[in-house]
Amino acid sequence: MRRKLVIGGSGFIGSTITSYLYDKGEEITVLDKKELELPKRRNRAADIRFVKGNLKSDRKLEESLENVSDVLIHSGKTGIGRSIEEPYSFYESNIFVLKKLLKKINERNVENVILASTARVYGEGKYECCDCGVKYPGKRTKKQLDNKQWEHLCGCGKELSALPSQEKDPKKPFTPYARSKLFQERFFQDGLTEANLVTLRYPFVYGPKQKGASKYFFDKVLNSEPPKLFEDGMQTKDFVHVEDIAKVNYAALDLKENVVLNVGKGRSEPLKQFVNTIVQESENSFDPKITGKYQEHDVRNSLQDVNKLENLVNIDFKNLDEGVQETLKFYRGTD
Ligand SMILES: [Zn+2]
Repeated sequence: MRRKLVIGGSGFIGSTITSYLYDKGEEITVLDKKELELPKRRNRAADIRFVKGNLKSDRKLEESLENVSDVLIHSGKTGIGRSIEEPYSFYESNIFVLKKLLKKINERNVENVILASTARVYGEGKYECCDCGVKYPGKRTKKQLDNKQWEHLCGCGKELSALPSQEKDPKKPFTPYARSKLFQERFFQDGLTEANLVTLRYPFVYGPKQKGASKYFFDKVLNSEPPKLFEDGMQTKDFVHVEDIAKVNYAALDLKENVVLNVGKGRSEPLKQFVNTIVQESENSFDPKITGKYQEHDVRNSLQDVNKLENLVNIDFKNLDEGVQETLKFYRGTD
């Protein structure tokens, strides 16, 4: 059996994929600068090879690509706010260092490449005005946000409603992070010669070992403190549990074609509902604090069409209650 290389396999999503592949009995190599925590449930001799390092090191890259048939790319910088503060480091980390990897993949007999991307490449995505039809609004203006007009407005003055973005729809990323991911997608699409490329555009992912916003919500609630929400708390996202992301990655290895896929349930829920679910499932009872403040780089409604994914892979995504319950088990140490 040839190995599956998970680049960034110690991170939040990467380590969940590593554990999932491990449970499936795959032979795995992980390249990451952060130590790998091996999966708890060890029912067989572990066949995980860990290479400590990153893509900048030729030697480490060579070492990690030994006898590899599949490469899953889950490395690179994340964090939208940080990308605005230090854009160049995002381009460097997410694009330039991949040049070497692309070259090596083409030199070796790699069959499948999975590239983790993001629904943020759509920017605000697709909307509809009941009078004027389909619209692709850009980022909301500061003036609009100062007036607490959270929803997008059509030129005619009416509020727009969100439609699911399809993979082929226009991309209007408005943060360096999202732009770097879109470049990364195109860079691989242009550069891969033999291997199949599956590009996965992730929605809002939460679950054990999470970082960033979702961790903040769980930490606050578990501390019995109401989390603070921007805007009116009614901004929507497709909340997906990280294990479902791992399942999609595993299934995508069998696709053997070049394809870009939105990943998710295809259903968005308000942020307030996500937080209320954490509150209820952890047997607390308080409401989140609605601050009315905003971050200019936030997307109001993130909704992706997942028909293409559903036609290719059969994944039963966890609903919010299940996903939150499982995440809480992790925090309580009972998973
Ligand atoms: Zn209109």
